[in-house]
Amino acid sequence: MIPRPASLLCLATLLLCGANVSAAFPAPSRDDPACSAEDRVFMARAYELARYATTHGGGPFGALLVKDGKVIAEFSNCVHSTGDITKHAETGLISAFSPKIDRATFARSTLYTSTEPCAMCCGAICFSGIGRVVYGTSEAPFVSVMGLPADPDPLTSREILRRISPGTKILGPLMEAEGLLIHEAYWPVHPEDVGKS
Ligand SMILES: [Zn+2]
Repeated sequence: MIPRPASLLCLATLLLCGANVSAAFPAPSRDDPACSAEDRVFMARAYELARYATTHGGGPFGALLVKDGKVIAEFSNCVHSTGDITKHAETGLISAFSPKIDRATFARSTLYTSTEPCAMCCGAICFSGIGRVVYGTSEAPFVSVMGLPADPDPLTSREILRRISPGTKILGPLMEAEGLLIHEAYWPVHPEDVGKS
């Protein structure tokens, strides 16, 4: 597991995020009503991991795996520091921990991810057999913050998982306002990273 980010770093990042709020950014979506109070606690940790990634060689993404109320794995995006394009938070977590976590445990666990999983990460989720996924920020507003045009025919993670991993339950968005602040603080000052993390 990676070390916990220093609380002062988190506070500084939060303050930085707040300073970058702009009326031009998309409005956050409402929380998925199926999410629980416990989901909110773990999503807050996913956002911490996303903030950590931005100062430790990655794009603003974090993920953790929780079973029976306990965190059993964490990962922050580290695409830039490793040069490995598969080091997204979700795929990176599954790659790093699947040798140590059996399929039955994956099936009874929830993967919390700060941003809606991409197609590659949905594939890793499928092959790991993770039973439940909760994402924080939806893809559409995240893409907007990156400055990319809206996809006229989006393929959502719900649709991908419904087709390739029907046993995986997916929930989200959750606490999207907090997630968008992280993206809004990152992408406008790192345009060179768009599409690379
Ligand atoms: Zn991904």
